[in-house]
Amino acid sequence: MGKVAINIATGSLQTEDIIVGIDLGTTNSLVAIVREDSQQPIALKETDGLTLVPSIVHFDEYNNITVGNPAKDMLLKQPERTIYSAKRLMGKSYKDVSKEAGFFSYNVIDDDTDSLVKVQIGDKFYSPIELSSAILSELKKRAEHILKVNISKAVITVPAYFNDAQRQATRDAGRLAGLDVLRIINEPTAASLAYGLGAKANEEKTIAVYDLGGGTFDVSILTISNGIFEVLSTNGDTYLGGDDMDRAIANYWSEELGIPADDKMAMQHLRVTAEAAKKHLSKNDGFEGEISGKKVTLSRDKFNELVQPLIDRTITACKNALKDAGIAKDKIDAVVMVGGSTRVPIVKESVKSFFEKDVFDDLNPDEVVALGAAVQADILAGKNTDMLLLDVTPLSLGIETMGGLMDVLIPRNSKIPNKIARQYTTQKDGQSGMRISVFQGERDLVKDNRKLAEFNLTGIPGMPAGLPKVEVTFLIDADGILRVSAKELRSGVAQSIDVKPQYGLTDEEVEKMLLDSLTHAKEDIGTRALVEASTEAKQMLDTTEKFISKHSDSLSEEEIAATRKQMAVLAAAINGQDKDKIQQETEQLNDVSRPYAERVMEGALKDAMKGKKVL
Ligand code: ADP
Ligand code: MG
Repeated sequence: MGKVAINIATGSLQTEDIIVGIDLGTTNSLVAIVREDSQQPIALKETDGLTLVPSIVHFDEYNNITVGNPAKDMLLKQPERTIYSAKRLMGKSYKDVSKEAGFFSYNVIDDDTDSLVKVQIGDKFYSPIELSSAILSELKKRAEHILKVNISKAVITVPAYFNDAQRQATRDAGRLAGLDVLRIINEPTAASLAYGLGAKANEEKTIAVYDLGGGTFDVSILTISNGIFEVLSTNGDTYLGGDDMDRAIANYWSEELGIPADDKMAMQHLRVTAEAAKKHLSKNDGFEGEISGKKVTLSRDKFNELVQPLIDRTITACKNALKDAGIAKDKIDAVVMVGGSTRVPIVKESVKSFFEKDVFDDLNPDEVVALGAAVQADILAGKNTDMLLLDVTPLSLGIETMGGLMDVLIPRNSKIPNKIARQYTTQKDGQSGMRISVFQGERDLVKDNRKLAEFNLTGIPGMPAGLPKVEVTFLIDADGILRVSAKELRSGVAQSIDVKPQYGLTDEEVEKMLLDSLTHAKEDIGTRALVEASTEAKQMLDTTEKFISKHSDSLSEEEIAATRKQMAVLAAAINGQDKDKIQQETEQLNDVSRPYAERVMEGALKDAMKGKKVL
């Protein structure tokens, strides 16, 4: 293959498509590629020497958009027109974010509904997808400027706990920015890839990825085996990060200087200096600065004391992640440091001492996710050995079956990509349609789970109940997006749907749904058994009714009377909601009808055989 190498320094053209890796972060975003010459991933640097683009979007009065550092400068001047942390809104409804609304200084529209959240700026409304798309467009433009080629393909990273809706929203943002998103991969997986962990065949490793960013903290436990990544557990805090360190310093100074904490403008200025102090202290032992003519100082020791409680919380999350993964601390082979805030020396020391291990921190922690995305892009471009990336589903996926029961097709924590098919049949004679309702959750009854989608399989040719074979297939692709299809196998009638949920689940909600499933497990088993018994009883009543009306000629009056009597008893038992009683009376009805049913069926069989040769 005649590849034309790309020279980053001179910007010489190359003929092949470049697939870039993008870290679309809550605080900062950036683009990376694998260099053709050295085969090493690098973060793209603009002429200003910067790789990071603050994930901030500013809209002026004429709705002109600026992204990155110029937008960051507007945070103080026009807070209501400057959007930060749009990632927190991805794939969410207003209900999902209502508790967090106080966090945003811009206007998140508050129509307390399930519809997707939007942000209001002046008289215009923007979806989080559009906001993220603005950031991606800027990244694309920068990359094109630096590389002097068109960029149309990308791998984008998302947190491991992102659900279907959030992943889909990220993909849509990419498309809106003119990027073909070849794959969405998990941030901890990308970070591990950047360090080449698991790159060798037959390598088996268990990895902890500690990611302390600007506003969020995530810890993930992964395993890599034969180039296949699996997320065993994730834990963290969606409101814990470097910003909290800045706030702790600002609060400390505000007391020293006697600035009231409710003086928003002054506090904001304090925070800007606090961040500079924090960064300075990552390399030096002391900081001296000035805030409106007054001198402020901060020693490394004082800083450590201020942030200790925050670090303690991250260590607790690490313990929980290990527990959820069922992995002992000493079974962790590698600890990977991710996020700008892991530059803080005391953070690094605390993590080392907790895991009793040296950590991977050679790469820039705020670039490592993008570098890994570039490695994945390189694999997809066919320029690297074949590595599979595998993730797991956070919650079970299934469909509603008779009696409102959840029939799980893909259990929680299943590997993705994944495909599973199961056969169902009709309940009624001549039934021509079947409703397929897709749910997510751990409870036995669908009403306690979350509905993702619904569609009708129509045009099933008339057949007796139980004869049609409807195969329902769940396919989750490598991005974690679900496609559900249904096909009646005898006639070939088929229908399918891509499950793009209206809104997403927060990780707290996922947690709650899991917790609920545990606390309600006993009750659920009871309900399931009752529903199953009632469904079976109703079917028994139905078939018996059909049988006696069809074969009344062959039955005695006593037989019909005894049957009718038992049918009434069973109907009453169904109303009584006592599972054991229902089963007992179903059994009883079976006993009453079995003798004549066998007699009639034998007679029918004999008739059918008459005059026919047995082969
Ligand atoms: P995110 O993943 O949330 O987009 P980043 O990984 O880019 O965020 O981390 C941003 C955070 O890292 C900010 O709070 C920033 O102040 C902090 N940070 C960056 N450099 C340093 C440093 N040298 N020392 C301490 N903190 C730093
Ligand atoms: Mg990050």
